[in-house]
Amino acid sequence: MTTPTPETPAPSDFIREIIADDIKTGKHSRIVTRFPPEPNGYLHIGHAKAICIDFGTALEFSGECHLRMDDTNPAKETMEYVESIKNDVHWLGFDWGPHFYFSADYFERMVECACELIRKGKAYVCELTSEQWKDYRGIPTLPGKESPFRNRSADESLSLFAKMRAGEFPDGTLCVRAKIDMASPNLHMRDPVIYRIMRAAHYRTGDKWCIYPTYDYAHPLEDAFEGITHSLCTLEFEVHRPLYDWVLEQLAIAKRPRQIEFARLNITYTVLSKRKLLELVRDGYVKGWDDPRMPTLAGLRRRGYTPSAIRSFCQRVGVTKFDSFTDIALLEFCIREELNQTAPRFMAVLDPVKVVIENYPEEKVDWFDAVNNPEDPAAGTHRVPFSRELYIERADFREDSPKKYYRLAPGKEVRLRYGYFITCTGFTRDEATGQITEIRCTYDPATGGGNAPDGRKVKGTIHWVSAKHAVPAEVRIYDRLFNVEHPDDVPEGVDYKTNINPDSLKIGQALLEPELAALPRGTRCQFERKGYFMVDPLDSTPAHPVFNQIVPLKDSWAKAGTPQP
Ligand code: ATP
Ligand code: MG
Repeated sequence: MTTPTPETPAPSDFIREIIADDIKTGKHSRIVTRFPPEPNGYLHIGHAKAICIDFGTALEFSGECHLRMDDTNPAKETMEYVESIKNDVHWLGFDWGPHFYFSADYFERMVECACELIRKGKAYVCELTSEQWKDYRGIPTLPGKESPFRNRSADESLSLFAKMRAGEFPDGTLCVRAKIDMASPNLHMRDPVIYRIMRAAHYRTGDKWCIYPTYDYAHPLEDAFEGITHSLCTLEFEVHRPLYDWVLEQLAIAKRPRQIEFARLNITYTVLSKRKLLELVRDGYVKGWDDPRMPTLAGLRRRGYTPSAIRSFCQRVGVTKFDSFTDIALLEFCIREELNQTAPRFMAVLDPVKVVIENYPEEKVDWFDAVNNPEDPAAGTHRVPFSRELYIERADFREDSPKKYYRLAPGKEVRLRYGYFITCTGFTRDEATGQITEIRCTYDPATGGGNAPDGRKVKGTIHWVSAKHAVPAEVRIYDRLFNVEHPDDVPEGVDYKTNINPDSLKIGQALLEPELAALPRGTRCQFERKGYFMVDPLDSTPAHPVFNQIVPLKDSWAKAGTPQP
């Protein structure tokens, strides 16, 4: 397996302790885990947690992790999803080596195991309809009733099972049940269905099968066939574990995998159910699985998130047995922390107002050196043009200037980042709209590069672009997809989609310094004082640059002396 870029090793947790112990006691000499997504949707940030645990533990203990398409339910599975899953796992930094599997490839062996269970008197063909079964199954506090077919002979069951497979019965009629315990307080142990008739084309096996195994029966077998030692999954499978163990026990499988459950990831301001994510895509609430507002790995990638920031997030979330919510701000913190170290910085004006420097010659251009990243001296510098007409942010100018306001206002002097000190001498306004249309200033020619030789200080530093060099670009500013913390938390009869944030995407026009406009697709950068952005990997062209906002900036220019508003 390839190793993701070195990070601090994950702190220990109850799963890692179990594995370490199994190695110490000699129970296992080699660890084998698996990540088993159903190819019925794209992977999301919750799956990233599972991937980091499954692949991460295998890596740490020098074992292997299998990628398995858990495709026992053909209805909603497609090859497009299979490809997206492989792509996303690789992107996240993990590799399964030769261990890529399809559950569907085990169908024949699973049928053999079912026959073995029938022969051992541990399973039978049942003819009760699912309606009738509701009555037989009972409720947790009262035992159920035994199916009248429970004690039919193994031969009769085997023959009926063969006919089920041969397509002699309609969908949903006969089924195979495990013969366990109709009085068990755990309803999953009350003769659960292991095979059902379902005429559905499977993306891999086509029309070959009209019977399909259920998840609870198939999963322990898949794990056993592959020699999985630790089958890690989310807490909702805890009540299924007795059935998982039962299947393996009846079949007398020598090396039994052990199922261990951990809490699933829940994040505020989003939904993480594949059914809901599919609905958002299908019904056009977002532009696709890779819409940058989606919590899918494809969406996060398109937005500009890095695999390492996502792995770091998963590590910080940790592994526990307690269901809880993780604040989406933690994910934003992780990408901000990384990009602060790695993303080059540029100037872009998102809401421009023109500034004319009255005493600066018409044709003159100064080129100033701008530091690419103060956190990374090796990142070097780039050149920024300065001329008589500039754009600054509308919010960096005020007609009045209250105390502690350090940016531009009539009579006030500010530093233009990397440029000159300028002093505001006046402004014009559109009387109809009340908007400022132009700001007039003078500059001090001795302050080029942002320093005054007489040592005089200005408190405010603002960013700018040269009007005649500025390149217009489309900027896509994303907000949370839902405007409440727990969008799933709705009263009976209310749809979670009522919580969708109608302003989750705002498209604006920005003016960029020329170097910024020349960055290739997929490049991440900081717009100084604004946030982290990425050149859109698909839509951006040199003639029409498009930038996605990854996250806004939280840190202010404290060091540069600009208190934020
Ligand atoms: P559904 O929402 O349709 O039940 P799922 O999200 O459980 O599907 P699977 O394809 O079955 O999707 O998931 C593959 C693996 O990822 C499983 O082992 C599952 O436990 C794990 N997983 C899924 N969602 C989360 C989550 N939110 N946090 C952690 N692990 C998850
Ligand atoms: Mg599932």
